[in-house]
Amino acid sequence: VRTLVAAAGVAGLLAVLALATLPPKPRPTGPAAPDPARSLDGTPREPLHVAAGAIHVHTVRSDGTGTADEVAAAAARAGLAFVVFTDHGDGTRDPLPPQYRSGVLCVDALEISTEGGHLVALGLARTPYRLAGEPRDVLEDVHRFGGFGVAAHPDSSKGELAWRDWSLPIDGVEWFNLDTEWRDEGPGRLLLALLHQGVRPAPALGALVRPDRPVLARWDRLARTRRVVGLAAVDAHARIGADAAPGGSLRLRVPSYEASFRTARVAVELAAPFSGDAWRDMNTLLAALRRARSYGWIEAFAPAGRVEFTGHRPDGTAIGIGEFAGHGLEGVRLRAAAAAPPDAEIRLICDGMVVASGPAPGPVLRVIPAPPPEACRAEVRIRRGNGFEPWLVTNHIYGRAGDPSPAQTTSAASATMPIEGAGVADWVVEHDASSEAHVETRTADGASEVRLRYRLAAGARRGQYAALAGSFSVPGDAAAIHLTAAADRPMRLSLQLRQPDGGGGGRRWRRSIYVDAIPRAIVVPIADLRPADPGQDDRPSLARVHAVLVVVDTTNTPPGQGGLVAVRDVTFGRAAGAR
Ligand SMILES: [Zn+2]
Ligand SMILES: [Zn+2]
Repeated sequence: VRTLVAAAGVAGLLAVLALATLPPKPRPTGPAAPDPARSLDGTPREPLHVAAGAIHVHTVRSDGTGTADEVAAAAARAGLAFVVFTDHGDGTRDPLPPQYRSGVLCVDALEISTEGGHLVALGLARTPYRLAGEPRDVLEDVHRFGGFGVAAHPDSSKGELAWRDWSLPIDGVEWFNLDTEWRDEGPGRLLLALLHQGVRPAPALGALVRPDRPVLARWDRLARTRRVVGLAAVDAHARIGADAAPGGSLRLRVPSYEASFRTARVAVELAAPFSGDAWRDMNTLLAALRRARSYGWIEAFAPAGRVEFTGHRPDGTAIGIGEFAGHGLEGVRLRAAAAAPPDAEIRLICDGMVVASGPAPGPVLRVIPAPPPEACRAEVRIRRGNGFEPWLVTNHIYGRAGDPSPAQTTSAASATMPIEGAGVADWVVEHDASSEAHVETRTADGASEVRLRYRLAAGARRGQYAALAGSFSVPGDAAAIHLTAAADRPMRLSLQLRQPDGGGGGRRWRRSIYVDAIPRAIVVPIADLRPADPGQDDRPSLARVHAVLVVVDTTNTPPGQGGLVAVRDVTFGRAAGAR
């Protein structure tokens, strides 16, 4: 029996291989391009240009199987106007310059692996150090260097990949991720889908799409507090097998890029069509994505024709997708219409509640009463099996006037006062066997400054580190670590407290801090420290802590790098008002 099963497995695999190489069937293209200056019901409006594309695509620059040119050619065959590459990386590689390939605008972005899941970062140039470590720090760095961060595949069943910390000021969320959908399926259904994939690639993948979308409710909750862009991502690799076969010895180039591109799409609404200048068009595209001027749909269910979602204030002025109404949504007339398959239902959803619905093409209308909700969106659901499932999802229209910048949200002032006489006096260096570290103490402006000269050993990342270690006893009422720090280049240091118990070098709690050439006062609440070793979740016991460490390690610093770090005024703070 076992031999039979194995033989059947091999035969199945061969069939998949044979089918996978078949060219996909040409598909009828969608409805004729609509007139950008007219609404679905024929009334004139501000011209709106729509460009549809694919977001979250891996190439050979990470774990995809296609080159940028091959991916672009597949995108062109699928009728896309743009593709956003998101190869895995840490920001230290130059992004590909934007370029039209096969007539498709190709924009490079990044998927960063944090300790709390994957983050897609758009709009980043090359960064001066590795973006890695805790999700809060990676997101802060993405903002620091001008990008915006999208929580990748939050519904993934693979816990280490899915984004988890929803208290962080993420800028976007993938409400759909094709890769998650089909990888989460059992092998039987997957094999069936692959057998179909050569014949009807996109519908075969669509058959794997799950009906539940818990992330939509989460997204609606986030949208009440700030603008969070919802995206339908393909997460295309054109690859299976690497999970099952480490080293990638068994790699099938399925589902093909083209099949993925026919599965989920994002459309951006633009004031003018792309110009043909790749740099200019990249900036236009990124601005539209950042401002949530977009909607997405599951193309495998049905191609989207025309979708409109607008608000009109009582004075008649219009509010578009992703925009802020300014004075709340009370009295705003929402209107949604969509050219959709028969049986489709359009819903207006405000703060997660359905406030109006009706059959496509609509329009579905609702004048928002008091008390007004914070954020409303439109969703088109189509019949699948016995029920209705989300097919097309717009971004929100927001009632408020705008959002604070992410920097304002992340740097909440911590109210602690330095404790007299709690400073650290003695500093030594610690380092791994192959790295170098030297300490110098100098007195400048009456304050003593401690300098770490370091060089991490070159080669592969294998836990190289160089650190300043100060010994002291922590006041029992300490609530924060205070210090002033600078470095000869922008970098991230790990600030740590160490307890002597536990195996080896003791147990440590850490928080990473950003430093550059300008000395800055830094306050790290002790409650913000997290265990350095996985599997722990307790707090340091201040009575037992005997050292504070300022560490350069390979989380954010590449092997082989040398330089200078300076710290002074290292002390502890107690909560303001406490004695
Ligand atoms: Zn990922
Ligand atoms: Zn990915």
